[in-house]
Amino acid sequence: MKLGCIADDFTGATDLANNLVRSGMRTVQTIGVPGGDAPAGADAVVVALKSRTIPAAEAVAQSLAALRWLRAQGAQQIYFKVCSTFDSTDRGNIGPVTEALMDALGCDFTIACPAFPANGRTVYKGYLFTGDVLLSEGSMREHPLTPMTDPSLVRVMQRQSRRRVGLIEQAVVRRGSEAITQRMRELRDAGVGIAIVDALDDADLHAMGRAFATLPLLTAGSGVAIGLPANFGLVPSAGAAELPEPQGSRAIVSGSCSTASNAQVAAFLARHPGRGFAIDPLRLADGTDMAAQALDWAAPRLGSEPLLVYATAQPEAVKAVQARLGVEKAGTLVEQALAQVAAGLVHSGTGQLVVAGGETSGACVQALGVRSLRIGAQIDPGVPWCHAVTGNGQPLHLALKSGNFGATDFFDKAFEVQR
Ligand code: ADP
Repeated sequence: MKLGCIADDFTGATDLANNLVRSGMRTVQTIGVPGGDAPAGADAVVVALKSRTIPAAEAVAQSLAALRWLRAQGAQQIYFKVCSTFDSTDRGNIGPVTEALMDALGCDFTIACPAFPANGRTVYKGYLFTGDVLLSEGSMREHPLTPMTDPSLVRVMQRQSRRRVGLIEQAVVRRGSEAITQRMRELRDAGVGIAIVDALDDADLHAMGRAFATLPLLTAGSGVAIGLPANFGLVPSAGAAELPEPQGSRAIVSGSCSTASNAQVAAFLARHPGRGFAIDPLRLADGTDMAAQALDWAAPRLGSEPLLVYATAQPEAVKAVQARLGVEKAGTLVEQALAQVAAGLVHSGTGQLVVAGGETSGACVQALGVRSLRIGAQIDPGVPWCHAVTGNGQPLHLALKSGNFGATDFFDKAFEVQR
C-alpha cells in the first residue's frame, strides 16, 4: 500500500477514492477499520469512518485505530480526508485528529487544505470560498451540526489546535513546488506546526502534490489527492479503474428526496414504464410489509433492463409524512425497508445495483454485509461504480449516489457505462 487514507465520513471517502482512481491509483474503500489484511493489489486504501461530528476524543481514538491498521499494512504516507467545507467546530474534530495523528507519526509539520477547485472550493489568503462567496456567506453558515461562520481557515484551525497554525499563500503556491517546499521549511523553523495552503486551480494542487511528497501526514479535502499519485510513479490510466466483469440483473433503490434524485426517478419512470415500485412510508408505519411486496413485484421482472424501487418523493409529500411519523421515524422506517429490498434483490441475483441517497446507501451497504469497495470508473462527477463482495460471498457492482449528485439520466447512464 502506498497511500493510507482516513476519511471522516462515508461519502467523503468515496469522493477521495474517486479522485485517487482518476489520478492512477488502484483504490479500495473500507467501511470502518478492517479486521483482516488489506486486499491485494491496492495502491491506496481509504478507511471510511463516521467521525466528523462525534465527540473529539472518540474521533481521535477511531482515527488512531485506522492509522495503526494502515501502518501495519505498509502505508507510506497518511492522508486525513476532511470535508471540502472544513466542517468542524471549535472543539474539533479536524484539529484534534490532525494533532493526534502527528503525535503518533512523530511528525512536527503538516498542511491542511480543503481546496477542490473543480467543485468550486478555493482557498485564497487562507479564506475558504464556496463558489463565488466566502464559506461563511454560503449555506454552510446554517449547517445544523457544524455551522461555519468564520471563513478564515487559519483562525478556524487555530481554535481547535495546540500547535501554531500558519499559511502558505497562493503567491508562493503559484511559484511551484520548490517555492512551497522552501516556505514549509521557513514555517517549520518559525514554530508553525500546521499550515493552511491556498489553492485556486488544479495547477496549484499538482504543484503542492509534488511538494508534499515527503510529508508523513496530509490533512486535506479530496482535491489535494490529484497531485499525489505522480509521487509514487503513477499516471492516470484506465487500468486503475478496472473492475471484474459485471454480472446479474440490474436494479436501482432510491431513498433520496433531493431535487436531483426526484428528477432522476421521474426520468427513469418515463423511459421505463411499469418498471418502478413506490414504497409508501405511511403504509410501512401501518405495519404493511412493503419490502416483501416490492420483492414479489420485482421477482418476475429481474433482468438486464433495470427496475427501480423508490421512496423518493417531493418535499411537500415528505413533510406530510414527517408531520405524521416524525422525521427520525420516517427516515428509519424507509431506510430499513429499502435496505431489506436491496438485500432481497441481490439475493435474487441482482449483480448491478445503484443506490440513491447518502443515508440510504449506508443502510443498504450494512444490510448487504459489504465491508469494502474497490473503486472503478466514474459515472458522473463524484460517483464511481464500485465492486464489493457481500456478507454471503456474492460479487456485486454497486454505485452509491448521495443526494444531489448525477445528471437527470444518471440511472440509465450508470448501466450504459457498464456496457
Ligand atoms: P440524500 O443523500 O438525498 O440526503 P438520504 O438517503 O441521505 O438522501 O436521506 C433521505 C432520507 O429521507 C432517508 O432517511 C430516507 O429514509 C428518508 N425518506 C425517503 N423517502 C421518504 C419519504 N417519502 N418520506 C419521508 N422520508 C423519506
